[in-house]
Amino acid sequence: MNDQTNKFNKKAEQIAFDEVHRAKIKFNIGQYDQAVLTGKQRYAHLELARQRAANVKHKTLSHLDKYLVEFETNFTANGGKLLWAKHAEEAVELIVKLLKAENIKKLVKSKSMTSEEVKLNENLEKAGIEAIETDLGEFIVQQAGEKPYHIVTPAMHKSKEDVADLYYEKFKTPADSTPEEITAYTRQLLRDEFQNAGAGITGANFLLADVGGIAVTENEGNAIMSMAFPKLHIVLVGIEKILPSIDDLDLFWPLLSTHGTGQPMTVYNSVITGPSAQTGGPQKMVVVVLDNGRSKLMARKRHRSALGCIRCGACLNVCPVYKNIGGYTYDTTYTGPIGAVITPHMQDMKSYKHLSFASSLCGQCTEVCPVKIPLHELLLLNRAEAVKEGWTLPSERFVMSTAARVLNSRSITDMAGSSTKNLVLKYFFSKSWGPRRKMPKLAKKSFSQLWKEKQ
Ligand code: SF4
Repeated sequence: MNDQTNKFNKKAEQIAFDEVHRAKIKFNIGQYDQAVLTGKQRYAHLELARQRAANVKHKTLSHLDKYLVEFETNFTANGGKLLWAKHAEEAVELIVKLLKAENIKKLVKSKSMTSEEVKLNENLEKAGIEAIETDLGEFIVQQAGEKPYHIVTPAMHKSKEDVADLYYEKFKTPADSTPEEITAYTRQLLRDEFQNAGAGITGANFLLADVGGIAVTENEGNAIMSMAFPKLHIVLVGIEKILPSIDDLDLFWPLLSTHGTGQPMTVYNSVITGPSAQTGGPQKMVVVVLDNGRSKLMARKRHRSALGCIRCGACLNVCPVYKNIGGYTYDTTYTGPIGAVITPHMQDMKSYKHLSFASSLCGQCTEVCPVKIPLHELLLLNRAEAVKEGWTLPSERFVMSTAARVLNSRSITDMAGSSTKNLVLKYFFSKSWGPRRKMPKLAKKSFSQLWKEKQ
């Protein structure tokens, strides 16, 4: 077992039995479940919308090269600048260079998982540049010195009391502050930062090829301010975020909000097509388009559909594994079913294959995905690849091949009585069954014996 797998197993064991953690997640996901259920009922033909979205994503990914070049041509014609980054280090290097050229020491950021992927904040700090998160949830986890817990709801693991305590400790606000008071305090605090920041860094939910613009969707207005106030706007975005046309937003925006939070539409939806110095907006706008392992996924035809993910978070919220072991146990940027599918390819199979095995394969993730990614099938595919590539233990391979031989042969399975079979189960499987579960006992007579007797 490698270090990453060991770490995952230990953390999962500990967190799954943490009742306080469980109660917080149950409460927060419960709120979400109700809202999403109501949201989905607004659709006359949800299945049709999902199928259309899956088709658009399939078409786009099949012609990714064409759409990315179309985006570059149109965005550049609008006055923007596009930079390509092969990997995380290159993306960081490009961004630091841009900021240093403008002598920027402080910037504001809106929530972006792509920036988490390249560890942007830590790297900016090393370069002497302070990055201030402006999404409330993200600001909270930044103050706590933590990473986002969930791709849509970064502070999902914190109760309102936890946040009040954190603010008391950091800002000396009253220890019994309400969420409204905390929000008002943060708003006041961030307003100055928006006005004084030298640059704003955002992600993008979509890149729109036909207009050469980015589409950003958010609930707090902090992304709009990060894009509008500073003189330099940098966008960090993965290559897979492209959509052929601005017209596709009427399908994707409601699907994203309904599956993400249950809202018919997220509160603020912006399309930015370039710098807007004439109207007092940024003088420069640079889009950094990141690969960082995505083309490895593109090259695998059967896995390619995973790049269609619009990061709504729905698969995390229904996943029984995620709900029990929590976001931090994964120790990856993208967590839950989609994280388990893409991380072994974007990082490496040897270190992250265990994520694909940590699944009940119940298929709920596939059922809720708005772009119809067959997540549970891709998890199975990852497992098969991990075995084929030799990343399983020799003892595991021996047990599995023996079990396959025995279970496929009626004469061998009937050879031993139930007490021998129970002994075999206890000897080989009790460790993986875990100390907290009672090993099931096989019936005295097998089905085939009972059948024969009945005849
Ligand atoms: S895989 Fe599907 S359900 Fe999961 S985050 Fe992506 S779009 Fe949402």
